[in-house]
Amino acid sequence: MTAFAGRLSEAARKLVLTPINRLLNRLDAPVLVLVYHRVATLASDPEMLAVTPANFRAQMKYLKDNFPLVRFEADWAGTPKPAIAVTFDDGYADNLLEALPIVEELAVPATFFVTTGNIGTGQEFWWHELQRLILGTHKLPPHFDLGTGSWGTVTEVKRRVMYDGLVRLMNDATPRQRNEWLSRVRGWAEMETAPNDRHRSMTLEELRILAGSRLVTIGAHTVSHTRLAALSSSGQKEEIMTSKQQLETWIGREIRVFSYPFGRRSDYTKESMTLCREAGFIKAAANFPGQAHSWTEPFQIPRHLVRDWPVELFAEKIRGFWTR
Ligand SMILES: [Zn+2]
Repeated sequence: MTAFAGRLSEAARKLVLTPINRLLNRLDAPVLVLVYHRVATLASDPEMLAVTPANFRAQMKYLKDNFPLVRFEADWAGTPKPAIAVTFDDGYADNLLEALPIVEELAVPATFFVTTGNIGTGQEFWWHELQRLILGTHKLPPHFDLGTGSWGTVTEVKRRVMYDGLVRLMNDATPRQRNEWLSRVRGWAEMETAPNDRHRSMTLEELRILAGSRLVTIGAHTVSHTRLAALSSSGQKEEIMTSKQQLETWIGREIRVFSYPFGRRSDYTKESMTLCREAGFIKAAANFPGQAHSWTEPFQIPRHLVRDWPVELFAEKIRGFWTR
């Protein structure tokens, strides 16, 4: 169903997908997988990845009161459905500091897919560094030229256009290319600022505490958070295998599930799916809307991205998700 869902307009989606999905849901009740990234109150969140602790708690309470909640890695054939699975991507420290207490209070099972490269480093993901360098009101040279694109910086809007343009380019780049571009932006901006502690990933100790919760499953999410589709076969294998092995060494447990960085269909390839299977994973999570039925390919489980919605809007979105 979701194979062409991404290319449909909203009107066509309602006309075509909703009735089809309703029928399919009657044939085989699905699991709906939600994807979160952060539970935090941020002054600025250009990627809209953070849900405030208050909204997250209300959302989890709503789920707990209304649906069976299942683990992402479980064999869903034997679970009561329709059901919902909660997942997190990236490995931010707030997953432990803000999300875990709520998850434990309400007894919600959750799977955390962790990008290993930043664990214990105090570093931000590259998009946070770009935000720090470009967005805001500090003084910047009026113009930036990267060869593949050039941008002005004299207004807030222009800075945002530059940020979005660089994010698009860097999303498609190998880690090496991205680091080269980042160092050019750094040199150009001439700013001496430290990584923002609010955006750091977990320390190793924090990851171990998170993994120690009986409600928590840890999954892998590559080393450098690079689009697998941008990498060679050996580059993909390295990202997939190394993140699995690092996590297994760190927490002393087999890592059986994976999620693709960015996760749209264009962000990974058939080969990525094969490599994940060969690495010993049992399922992999994508990031496009859809339901998981018994016939869904286990190496691209659809997920619905959750925003910072108040609980009334969240409930309305969840109702809509079953037919998307
Ligand atoms: Zn991610």
